[in-house]
Order: sequence, then C-alpha cells, then structure tokens
Amino acid sequence: MLTAALNILKQHYGYTTFRPGQQKIITSLLNNKDTLAIMPTGAGKSLCFQIPALLLPGVTLVVSPLISLMKDQVDALNGVGIPATFINSSLTLSQVNERIYNAKCGRYKIIYIAPERLESESFQAAIKVLTISLLAIDEAHCVSQWGHDFRPSYRAVGTFITSLPNRPIIGAFTATATTDVTQDIITLLTLRKPDIYMTGFDRENLSFTVIRGENKQDFTLKYITTNKEQSGIIYAATRKEVDNLYSLLYKKGYSVGKYHAGLPDKERQHYQEQFIYDNISIMVATNAFGMGIDKSNVRYVIHYNMPKNMEAYYQEAGRAGRDGEPSECILLFGAQDPLLQRYLIEQTTFDTDRKTNEISKLQTMVDYCHTPECLRKFILSYFGETSDLTECDNCSNCKDDNELTDITLDAQKIFSCVMRVKERYGTTLIASVLKGSKDKKVLQLGFDSLSTYGLLKNYTLPEIRDAINRLIATDYLMLTDSEYPVVKLAPKGVAVLKNQTKVWQKVPKRTQKITVDNS
Ligand code: ADP
Repeated sequence: MLTAALNILKQHYGYTTFRPGQQKIITSLLNNKDTLAIMPTGAGKSLCFQIPALLLPGVTLVVSPLISLMKDQVDALNGVGIPATFINSSLTLSQVNERIYNAKCGRYKIIYIAPERLESESFQAAIKVLTISLLAIDEAHCVSQWGHDFRPSYRAVGTFITSLPNRPIIGAFTATATTDVTQDIITLLTLRKPDIYMTGFDRENLSFTVIRGENKQDFTLKYITTNKEQSGIIYAATRKEVDNLYSLLYKKGYSVGKYHAGLPDKERQHYQEQFIYDNISIMVATNAFGMGIDKSNVRYVIHYNMPKNMEAYYQEAGRAGRDGEPSECILLFGAQDPLLQRYLIEQTTFDTDRKTNEISKLQTMVDYCHTPECLRKFILSYFGETSDLTECDNCSNCKDDNELTDITLDAQKIFSCVMRVKERYGTTLIASVLKGSKDKKVLQLGFDSLSTYGLLKNYTLPEIRDAINRLIATDYLMLTDSEYPVVKLAPKGVAVLKNQTKVWQKVPKRTQKITVDNS
C-alpha cells in the first residue's frame, strides 16, 4: 500500500519523499479510518487526500470553500495526469449535468465541490448513485463558528454524509487546531472515532518579528525598498487601508497589486494572477487574499495591522516561504489595532458567547505582540505543540538586544491605578488615568482626583497602553473573560505591589528614557 502511494508521489507529483505526517494520514485513510489532519498552511495537505483518491475504488469528493481556485486546482491535477473535475456555481446547469454524467461513467477520480451544492436535493440525488469512497473536507474549520472563517454552508456536510446510502471514509483537513474547533469538526462533520494527526506547526525557515511604536508607513517603505526584488504580501485590516497603501506604493513606482472583497471580480483575478506569475512583486490585501493560493516564493509577509487572532495570523504569515527558503513574517503593531478588531467583533451579529470567545482570542493576539518570550515558542504552544525550544534565535524577541531593565516602579504605578479604579475598567481607561488625560469619561467618573491620576504623564498614551499590555502578556495583570474585558491584578502583580518581587523587562529603546523621566 505504501509502495503504491510512494509510486504515485513520484509518478504524478515528481517528489521523492513524503513530508512529515503525510504518510500516516494517507495510511489512515487507506485503512478505512475517519481522519482529522491538522497541518499548518503550506505543509502539504492536498496530497494526503489526492493520493488515497487514486488508490481507492470509485470517486473522491473534495468539499472546498475555494470556488475561485477550483478550476486552477483541477487544471493542475489534470496536468499531472489525474482525472479530476469540479462542480460549483460558476457552471451552467447543462455543464453540471454533463459532469455528473461523466462521473457516473467513471471518468473522474476526484471531484471538487462547493459546500452549497450539498444543500441541493437534486444534486444529492444525482451524486448518490456514484461510488464515493472518500469524502475529503478541506478547510474543515469552516464548519465551526469558533474558527476564523465560519461558513454556514459547511453545516450541510454532516447531513449530506448521513444521507448517503454507503458511508464513505471521511477525511477532514485544517490548519486550525484549537480544542473547540477540533471538537466541532468531529461532531458536526460526524467523524467516527477519527485518527487525529497534528503535524509540524513549526516552520523553521520563517523568522518572526513584532514591531511596536514605529511609523508603519516609514517602516514598510524602507523594508520594500531594501527587498525590492522579492515577492511579498502586505496585509492590512480594511479595504480603505489597502486602497491607500496601494496608491502610495503605486505612485512611488513599486510593482504592486491589490486585493480585497470590494474590488470587481475581474480586477481581483487580474492582480492575483499577476502576483502568482511574478509579474508584480507586492500584493497589498485584506485577509480576503491568499486562502488556497500556492505561491512558493513569497519572501515576506508584512501585517500592516494586527489580525484578529492567532489562527488568522499564522495562516496568513504562513504564506511566506512555502519553498522552504528563509522568509520573514513581520507584524506592525499599532495601538489602534486591537480597538479596530474589537469594534469589528462588536459589529457582528454573534451571540454573547461567541463574542466573548472572539475577544479572548483577540487578547491572545495582543499578548503575542507584547510577550518578551520567543515568538515561535508562543505560536507553537498556542497550537498545542509542546517543544523543548527555549530560544529559536530566529524571532525578534530572541534577537532583541535591549537590556533587561528594572521597571518595578512604573509597574507599581500601573498596578495601583488598577486597584484605585477598583479593577473595573479596561486598558484604555487605565492608561488615560495614568496619563492624566482630560478625557470626558475620566472626568465624568471623577478619576482626575485619584492619587494615581497623571502618575505616568511623561509617557505617551500608546506607550502606557504598551506597558500595560506587556504586563498582561507576562501575567502580572489579567483581563476578565467577558465581552468588555476589565484589567485585574494577577497574583504576580500583587507580589510586586507588596515589594516582594521586582519586574525586569526588555523595554523598547524609545520608551527607556521615560523610565528615567519618572524617577
Ligand atoms: P496546504 O494545503 O497544506 O497549505 P499544499 O497541499 O498546497 O499545502 O502544499 C503546499 C506545497 O507543498 C505544494 O506546492 C505542494 O506541491 C508541496 N508539497 C506537498 N507535499 C510535498 C512533498 N512530499 N514533497 C515536496 N513538496 C510537497
């Protein structure tokens, strides 16, 4: 069985060895076991269902949300001699019928389908006469509202499976590994005692950098100028920001394209192709860009804004360096970023539970931007991968040569302010009180008469928020798990207030002077 799989790998794909995890996943599916494969972007999930598809009798259905890419994926398969097709809303009824007819005649081994199809009764009836050996569900996290890309149409997959006369083997594939998403995938996609494989979340060739408190535009211009020949993606949070950044770079003569959901299909398609075929070097985009795009030589991914959670971040950053060559993932954190993401969550129609969950995931993202620890370690432990890694020497924290500084005094000022406002307010308000701001809310609450009012007036507001965020990320402070998280003192912070321990942190160079100002 394994030899047959290896032969296909060589014959059709031209690769000599399997990547970590691929062999086990393929074997599990061929052994008739429902399988859940959790692999990071770029790790090579597609082969894991395409190879079994060729070895099993009948046909494999692949459910995928990537309608715009199905044609490319199918063309690529046909190109390597694998009989495949797709069925989605881009086809006319007669084209759909023709493909179903061909499928009945056994002309395909793989059929890509959009999840919406499964809701159509006539399609269900037509497809039931096929021998479906394997149902592969790509981007399986789309079934879960706890994932970062919930698609209600994925809920139809479970019902479809139960309606089939002969239950196929089910393979679910995703890059999202949180417990709640995993549980949803198993339950909602009706996996039966699945084998679960989680592989290699570490992408050694990627370096990770977080930059706080720098002018984003200046940084980006400088970076792309020194990396002019390279291909890179710049992700921004809003369409407007994408348009602005694109215009700026275009006017300055950079080879740049843009992509967001507000652009006409044709224009998006055009830029996407130009980027994939290396006719333009830089793609400025919202998170609408990139899912399923297999461009191997992306040398950098810059996040112009912080994304909403770690899953989204790692998936987007992971589009760099798929060819295994050294590549950079840079996140430019701005104090406005968490506020914008929070606003976006608040604007949704999610119920309170889901909003609270999204906000707590957002906080982990903010923690990533402020942790003094190895960034790679932070990512790996978020995805549940335990590692012996203490320092990776390939992230901005491991390479940080700022001196460890005793910031106990400033930390105590922050902690006492948290106590003075009775642990009932969020980061922004506490920062305003410490700054001595004349903010309406601060004055209304009478916080200008607190003893901690204006205690850190020599710092800028973003610097104070930054300091608070760092103290949250290092567990001196904590945020409540609620729709409107409030800052509370953690046991580590209490010990500092009682002068039992000190706080040492690597403080960014720009703010070090302020520690002196305050003395
Ligand atoms: P994912 O779906 O996990 O993001 P893909 O299936 O698109 O990843 O694979 C990413 C890239 O890795 C593709 O270019 C694919 O051809 C390549 N790849 C997959 N498996 C192997 C392998 N065993 N050896 C070499 N390259 C591989």
